Amino acid sequence: MPLYCFHCYGCDADWEYLQSFEESKEEHLCGHCSEKLQKQTSIFAFTPSRWGDMTGRYGVNGYYSEALGRHVASPAVEDKLCEAKGLVRVSNYNESVITNVIDKSEDDHKEHLKDMETYNANIKKYGDDKEGKGRAIAETYSVERLQEKGLLDKSIKG
Ligand SMILES: [Zn+2]
Repeated sequence: MPLYCFHCYGCDADWEYLQSFEESKEEHLCGHCSEKLQKQTSIFAFTPSRWGDMTGRYGVNGYYSEALGRHVASPAVEDKLCEAKGLVRVSNYNESVITNVIDKSEDDHKEHLKDMETYNANIKKYGDDKEGKGRAIAETYSVERLQEKGLLDKSIKG
């Protein structure tokens, strides 16, 4: 079930409700001042198994992740997939995670600049015609490297 955030413009309070999409469309009143609450975006999907749902509703073979829009085997798998997409579970949403995400995007940026340097150097080496460019790309982005980054299936041979 998604976690919906509501804001009260009467007293500036924030409320979070775990509810279905249908329920989220209902009107909610602030528990402090009874003003009508304004729905904010639903930020993260809620994963019952993670939060101790023991009803077995989600089966022994995993469950459907609303955050990812696909079936996952376990919360650990879901976390890993979410992380790869830059999504952070609300319970993990602490400073170190945010710092890691920022660090990672800085690293990605540096890596990209380095790739461009390598590519341009390869163009100088092989020429900037169609063949030269193809070779420059192939040498900049090797199959091994793309597989390492998870951009290419591991069954493909370099
Ligand atoms: Zn209020």
